[in-house]
Amino acid sequence: MPDPNELTVLDPATEEIVATVPAATAGDVDTAVARAARAQTRWAAVAPADRARLLRRFADVVDAHTEELAQLEVREAGHTVANARWEAGNARDLLLYAAGGAERLTGRQIPVPGGWDVTFQEPLGVVGVIAPWNFPMPIAAWGSFPALAAGNAVLLKPAETTPLTALRLAGLALEAGLPEHLFQVLPGHGDTAGRALVDHPDVAKIVFTGSTRTGREVMERCARLVKPVTLELGGKSPNVVFADADLQAALDPFSFLDNAGQDCCARTRVLVQETVLDEARALLADALAAVVVGDPADERTQMGPLISGRQRERVRSYVPDDAPALRGKAPDGPGFWFPPTVLTGERHDSPAAREEIFGPVAVLLPFTDEQDAIRLANDTPYGLSGSIWTRDLGRALRVSQAVRAGNLSVNSHSSVRYWTPFGGYKQSGLGRELGPDALAAFTQTKNVFLSTEVPAP
Ligand code: NAD
Repeated sequence: MPDPNELTVLDPATEEIVATVPAATAGDVDTAVARAARAQTRWAAVAPADRARLLRRFADVVDAHTEELAQLEVREAGHTVANARWEAGNARDLLLYAAGGAERLTGRQIPVPGGWDVTFQEPLGVVGVIAPWNFPMPIAAWGSFPALAAGNAVLLKPAETTPLTALRLAGLALEAGLPEHLFQVLPGHGDTAGRALVDHPDVAKIVFTGSTRTGREVMERCARLVKPVTLELGGKSPNVVFADADLQAALDPFSFLDNAGQDCCARTRVLVQETVLDEARALLADALAAVVVGDPADERTQMGPLISGRQRERVRSYVPDDAPALRGKAPDGPGFWFPPTVLTGERHDSPAAREEIFGPVAVLLPFTDEQDAIRLANDTPYGLSGSIWTRDLGRALRVSQAVRAGNLSVNSHSSVRYWTPFGGYKQSGLGRELGPDALAAFTQTKNVFLSTEVPAP
């Protein structure tokens, strides 16, 4: 049973305790909301250019602490140090982008008879951001920074296992001169602090990233208060590889091994045209054997550990020892290691091919032609991302229009840029983060009509 009063942060590469952090109670959430509401009223009155200036200063402070933030992410989440540096840079860049957004957030003037009509994009108030453990720093940033830029206060609840980078970001915000209580971090358990945030009547919106199961509960609870919610949930994304593709690039194992496969966008369903299936199998076998798994702080490491023993047990349950599979290597304990794996004997409707495993495990499945590829790609309750590999431009366009997912890449595996929208179709979520509309999602539109036909006194 987890201690209700405390969070224990383990280094997943060593199983050593990195830190213990007091867990926020429902009462702490109440106090934080009241403080945030006061800070937000003042922040909303700050001129957008001055808000932007402060956020740019915050970006400078984050930049100066890149290495410290990256090392924290390595320790608490087991991310490779190269990835963790990228993540700190992503947080900085998003602050700069959001700062520019604050300056460009405007209403409209709409022609109407008998007067003037203007709209205002007003901040929502206090926004609750609930983050998962797989990308603690980027997801904290994606939910929080555009909300702050749009004039809101933010209460961020990180995952139980990974509160440290979030806490440090809040400390850096204060160092940069952001007002006190505007950006607060509430480390705590999902069923206490998380629920208290979702249920609080003075929290105007919830941005939730995590599992589809918890996301469903969050949405139900928000519905009771008619509270808007953005949901970034699970995925089981296809990598559709046609026979004419650059197979080496298409079958890059880091399309499903990045962050040890604990990546909502991981292309874990490797759909390969049957005429090149043997070639694909051989390429994947070589690639898996070459993956360097080990100490995430070592610059040469390509894949670190899973987040916890519990997560490793979950992953293992999908990979019986006798399952037909291509397998790479992983260190022995301590540490929550699992070898890179491609299951080769699955049907497309088996649990390993349908459920989000959230570990370094993909399934290899054949398809016959374009229609079959589209059918298989769409035969999932999820719709977050996916890749399509072909040199035929017409086919690339047809398939990318037919696949029901929010983030597709053609001849690429990249999904995330802070200046393009990100989010899921179907049970992968609701709403979009990042991109040109990121700030608008944290505002509501007020329409004001001013009559010019006032009778003379
Ligand atoms: P999770 O749903 O268990 O927890 C996510 C967060 O919700 C944690 O902070 C947790 O404490 C909190 N929480 C738990 N129960 C709650 C409740 N009843 N009310 C309010 N908050 C509660 O997910 P996880 O295991 O931490 O993360 C992995 C999942 O996140 C995967 O399914 C993955 O695909 C998904 N994910 C999605 C995206 C995306 O952008 N679509 C990005 C990263 C991760």
